[in-house]
Amino acid sequence: MNSENIFLALKNIKKTIDINKDEIEKLDQAIGDGDHIFNIQRGLNEALKLETELSSLSPEEVFKKIGMKIMTTVGGSSGALFATLLMGMAKKYSKELNDLENLAAMFYEGVEATKKRGKADLGEKTMLDVLIPVSLSLNKLKNEKNIKIVAEKIKMVAKEGMLSTRDIMATKGRASFLGERAIGHIDPGARSSQLAISAICDEYIN
Ligand SMILES: [Mg+2]
Repeated sequence: MNSENIFLALKNIKKTIDINKDEIEKLDQAIGDGDHIFNIQRGLNEALKLETELSSLSPEEVFKKIGMKIMTTVGGSSGALFATLLMGMAKKYSKELNDLENLAAMFYEGVEATKKRGKADLGEKTMLDVLIPVSLSLNKLKNEKNIKIVAEKIKMVAKEGMLSTRDIMATKGRASFLGERAIGHIDPGARSSQLAISAICDEYIN
């Protein structure tokens, strides 16, 4: 894990988010206020601007500085939540662990921080319905030697989590005001999180 492959992941995330921009926007117009895609794209652009500046720093510094940048430049609840995820991940980086072990420990810490910040948990029709199952699966798979198997499994878990948000009511965020009317709509934060995770997995699948 180094600055270069962290930025490669960000570029792949940006590609998939840009391709799926219209879909994410429509999902958010259905149950949110429609600004989610703008916030996500802004966050990715702000993060990518840091590539040269962060190129020689350690992964913990890279995650921390990107998180801080997103925290101070991106609006909406997703800005603060993704920033919290990244800054939480930064805290658990260890030189002693291999990349997969590191990622599992870092992602777990980041997701726990995001749960606290959002005061939310599994089953509330949010990005956490993707992030929590992915975090748990990563920890189960952290000793798997075949990285392709890990990537395929994580991609599937992220997709299942994203789809699970369709048939439940929201208890957090703006969508909660809709009550049962939110049922039938996938959560936009869950969809963008799933797309981001899939983009990273695809680097190891093909
Ligand atoms: Mg919004």
